[in-house]
Amino acid sequence: MENFDVEAIVAKIINGESGCSKAQSAVADSQKFRSAAEAAQAALSPTAGQGGVFDTLDEAVAAAHIAQDKLFHSKLDRRKQIVEAIREGLLPLVHEMAVRAVEETGMGNVADKEAKNRLAITNTPGVEDLDVATEVLTGDYGMTLYEYTPYGVIGAICPSTNPTETVICNAIGMISAGNAVYFSPHPGAKKTSQWLINEVNRIVSQASGIENLIVTIKEPSIEAAQAMMVHPGINLLVVTGGPGVVNQAMRSGKKVLGAGAGNPPVIVDETADLEKAGKDIVDGASFDNNLPCIAEKNIVAVSSIAEYLLYNLQKNGAIYINKPEDIKKLEALTVTPKQSPNKDYVGRSAVKILTDAGVAFTGQPRLIVVESQSTDPFAKIEMLMPIIPFIRVPDFDCALQVALELEHGLHHTALMHSTNVNRLNLTAREMQTSIFVKNAPSYAGIGFGGEGPTTFTISTPTGEGTTSTRCFARRRRCVLAGAFSMK
Ligand code: NAD
Repeated sequence: MENFDVEAIVAKIINGESGCSKAQSAVADSQKFRSAAEAAQAALSPTAGQGGVFDTLDEAVAAAHIAQDKLFHSKLDRRKQIVEAIREGLLPLVHEMAVRAVEETGMGNVADKEAKNRLAITNTPGVEDLDVATEVLTGDYGMTLYEYTPYGVIGAICPSTNPTETVICNAIGMISAGNAVYFSPHPGAKKTSQWLINEVNRIVSQASGIENLIVTIKEPSIEAAQAMMVHPGINLLVVTGGPGVVNQAMRSGKKVLGAGAGNPPVIVDETADLEKAGKDIVDGASFDNNLPCIAEKNIVAVSSIAEYLLYNLQKNGAIYINKPEDIKKLEALTVTPKQSPNKDYVGRSAVKILTDAGVAFTGQPRLIVVESQSTDPFAKIEMLMPIIPFIRVPDFDCALQVALELEHGLHHTALMHSTNVNRLNLTAREMQTSIFVKNAPSYAGIGFGGEGPTTFTISTPTGEGTTSTRCFARRRRCVLAGAFSMK
């Protein structure tokens, strides 16, 4: 990388071609960036960006544009081969990626991360998702076709809570739609993310000869992520993370798919199968130490069945905490004075949290159920820890009101255990969440023991919901006037 400044080359070419200042529309800039990128890429040293990891944002985006161009001008069969190769090549690595993520971030557990990675690899939709979305209209005036086509280079921001799952899921979906991807990983998951990006590049290169279809930089940071958001070579932002980063991306002026925070309530009414509800809630809320954004974060139980539900929660590995002094100890350890989760305990095990809080326990509890009011910090805050408040309400109507309050209008996930179809229907309708799970653990909502494909990017404020390939593509219209209707 001696004496080589990609930024200068790109700027020179952009300005030289147009004779204008840099203050041009994002679209025009983006088009110029493509040709500038080619020139910049040609000037890169042969060792730059080995395995998709570059020194600078400009270099990475430039290389990704060259790769995307090759992909776009290839047959769809080549795209399908690439995606198949990614699935086959990553499956043997699920254990290693889980170990690396747990070691680097200190969050979650290896067995559940393995399951999540396997799910992302095998169950994320591929190129076929575009076929399902294709529409054709025919009539007196001819034929009109709607197809889904690539954006170009997508800037994908990933959370520390699902560092590898998000890279896998986004890479499969975004490449299937014909894009290249610039990944902005969480700095706390840098090594694991770069290792995985390297592996995916190796697999893609072996399968197709295309290098740098997914790229990143050596030193990810908040500042670098913000620079990426406004970079002219980034054509779409897909942001998976908390409210801060989603709001920041919305200010970029680009199209954003915002996959933000959640606080999923689970309602249990008196008609529920309580043995199953107890097991499902412990399974879902303790999965990967409650890191998934879709995991149960509040139990809202109708009083008449509360004690039997508690019995079933404990039977399935939960510890029930109701002494005020124990609740205070847990709060002091896990909630900061600013009413946010203490990051040192996000994704830690129930045993670690109980031990460090000095709360007595026996055995190996996997979930801490805390007697609470809906106004308590554990109820209001997205804790991302295996601590779940247990809130008693007089009846179903009250349960629905409390669940609505606790979801905070985030449009993320809600759950319910009930056999009353009218109540299930009303709750599904009123919650307005992207995912609503009935009578199952939360992970059924992303295709784990529930029907349907998987995603680790659930677009909440921007409304795409459970994203798939077609969400990472432009809907375009192609009209043939006066022909091809046989009606
Ligand atoms: P986080 O918001 O701290 O970080 C997410 C990513 O954004 C990281 O790459 C980080 O480096 C970057 N980032 C953070 N603040 C930024 C800013 N101001 N400007 C630019 N970049 C910024 O979140 P986290 O702790 O890594 O992940 C947990 C959060 O993500 C939870 O709120 C969870 O609900 C959410 N999440 C949502 C989904 C979904 O599909 N909706 C999936 C997984 C996680």
